[in-house]
Amino acid sequence: MIDAGLPIRAFFTTRDGGVSAPPYDSLNLAVHVGDEPHAVATNRARVADAAGAPVSYLTAAHGIAVARVDAPGQVPSTADALVTAVPGAAVAAIAADCVPVLILDEATGAVAAVHAGREGLFAGVIDAAIAEMLDLRRGRRAQGRMRASIGPAICGLCYEVPEDMRARVASRHPVAFASTRAGTPALDLPRAIETRLSDLGAERVVRSDECTAESSRLFSHRRDGVTGRFAGVAVCE
Ligand SMILES: [Zn+2]
Repeated sequence: MIDAGLPIRAFFTTRDGGVSAPPYDSLNLAVHVGDEPHAVATNRARVADAAGAPVSYLTAAHGIAVARVDAPGQVPSTADALVTAVPGAAVAAIAADCVPVLILDEATGAVAAVHAGREGLFAGVIDAAIAEMLDLRRGRRAQGRMRASIGPAICGLCYEVPEDMRARVASRHPVAFASTRAGTPALDLPRAIETRLSDLGAERVVRSDECTAESSRLFSHRRDGVTGRFAGVAVCE
């Protein structure tokens, strides 16, 4: 587990500590990638133990839908962001190169888990998650900061894309403009998400410097093709 650096129980999982066989070895947390369902269930039970709470996982659809989790362990509708303000509930965002983002609103105690890939970022999934959290402040005398933790993801030196795709994303998120080590067009999604979170009022944003495509302890779809997914997990306290 990688500590998320938030003042709550929040972490990012790695490949380690699960029961799945290759190519999902070993802590695969996704049910849609071809792994044995009972292995995923065992892996998810281990993550719940680590969280100390039942964990609700999002189902990534590369859109901007936000689902509220209203009870611990609730299975949410398909959404790229989960938000909960229920103490004892935990939310998780799965990824393997896309960017898992955990957000804490210290004013309400609400937490969010967001799956932010290229399309989700472009469409506004970070904005949608923050809007939902601000909605939870309504009617309260909310004082406190919005904090966020950006988990391991493919880095701007590795995430090669076609020139026109880089231009399209950079037109909305200029700091996403990047180049690979070979000088070909690339996108730096973690940097763009960090900037967007700050623009939206997150006062403290921490960011992992670990690249999924370069780190053998993390799943990488770009590197491995058929593979598992890790998760960012945040517990509402
Ligand atoms: Zn990299």
